[in-house]
Amino acid sequence: MITSTTGPQPADFADVRATNLAVVLRFVREHAPCSRADIAASTGLNKATVSSLVADLIDRRLVRETGLTENRVGRPATMLVLDGSPYAAIGVEINIDYVSAVATDLAGERLLTWRRSFSAGESVNQGVAGVAAIVRRVVNRMAKEERQVLGLAVALPGLVDVQGTVRIAPNLGWYDADIGGDLAKALRDPGFTIQVDNDANLGALAEQRFGAHAGAGDLVYLTGEMGVGAGVILDGRLRKGGLGYSGEIGHVQLDPDGPECRCGRRGCLEAMAGIGAVLRRRDPSPAEIEVEIEEVVRSARAGDERTLANLAAVGTSLGQGVSIIANLLNPEVVILGGYYVPLAPWLLPPVRAEVADRAIAPQAGGCEVVASTLGYDAAALGGAARVLDSIDSGRLPGGISRTS
Ligand SMILES: [Zn+2]
Repeated sequence: MITSTTGPQPADFADVRATNLAVVLRFVREHAPCSRADIAASTGLNKATVSSLVADLIDRRLVRETGLTENRVGRPATMLVLDGSPYAAIGVEINIDYVSAVATDLAGERLLTWRRSFSAGESVNQGVAGVAAIVRRVVNRMAKEERQVLGLAVALPGLVDVQGTVRIAPNLGWYDADIGGDLAKALRDPGFTIQVDNDANLGALAEQRFGAHAGAGDLVYLTGEMGVGAGVILDGRLRKGGLGYSGEIGHVQLDPDGPECRCGRRGCLEAMAGIGAVLRRRDPSPAEIEVEIEEVVRSARAGDERTLANLAAVGTSLGQGVSIIANLLNPEVVILGGYYVPLAPWLLPPVRAEVADRAIAPQAGGCEVVASTLGYDAAALGGAARVLDSIDSGRLPGGISRTS
């Protein structure tokens, strides 16, 4: 039997306990309010073990008793909910012209949402210093609220390997950069983990945890920023490929005679259906994009024929890209993010038509295409989701922990 002994234990024993703590924590997250008996019945852990694990989680202030009781046959039970009031998870998105920061509590409730204009500067050092200044302010705010930071995950547009090294982030001008390590140094070893990942991957995690299709096992998130990337969740897990470079749908060639892409090739999805194609310019100025997209939306609403024809063409190309995803991965849903969201009323009909036409499976294999409901903060929110995922998989604050 697993007990609450706190003395020295064999590593595998501690590992089993950390795993069981994570199982109970996840159950409370998904089913709160719930009783100890509910946990035992659903997880297969025996009641004494559950009591011991719950006591541990209460000690760590991850779970609390609500005092609510549920009348059942037999005696009433004390109900449990997530606590986490002393904790915060931080997500940050670095993009060409802005940095977004989001902090959530353990239950995913937002504590803070910031967006600041940002310039990557001439060097990685300058860029990191700018991001570190913003992170420091978020951490200070959390400290004022007497919250311990559980971790930070940073999203950026580029190829990030499985170790978290940024290999190629052309829009930021960053190559082979250990942004996590540099940030840790700039923050003077802040005492929490710093993870770095691609913005599409973290956007997908945000959708999986917080979006309108939260809980979907097979989901693809498409960024609609300067670049177009896909974050892929299959069987409930983010799939990054061998080295971490999956999801580069933006550079799948749709037309060998198409317009030149920023990658130097021709007719890539990004060149035909990225923001540059929407604005009919290959290199729109980052600072102007948001305003220009608003203008496109106004023109489309006013029925401007040239705008509508261009959006229809962009939607058709985007639909070709999405149909490749539908044929290859058979997701339940493909979610369009970033600047695609305000354009969704004009893009979604041609995208859906292309997917229906090009998917081999009947009804496109059940693949829905929708616009994100998370807004421009999706990747930053996904950073917080990544930190919460680490907690759910057993990296608990205080006491026994295990790396996932
Ligand atoms: Zn390309």
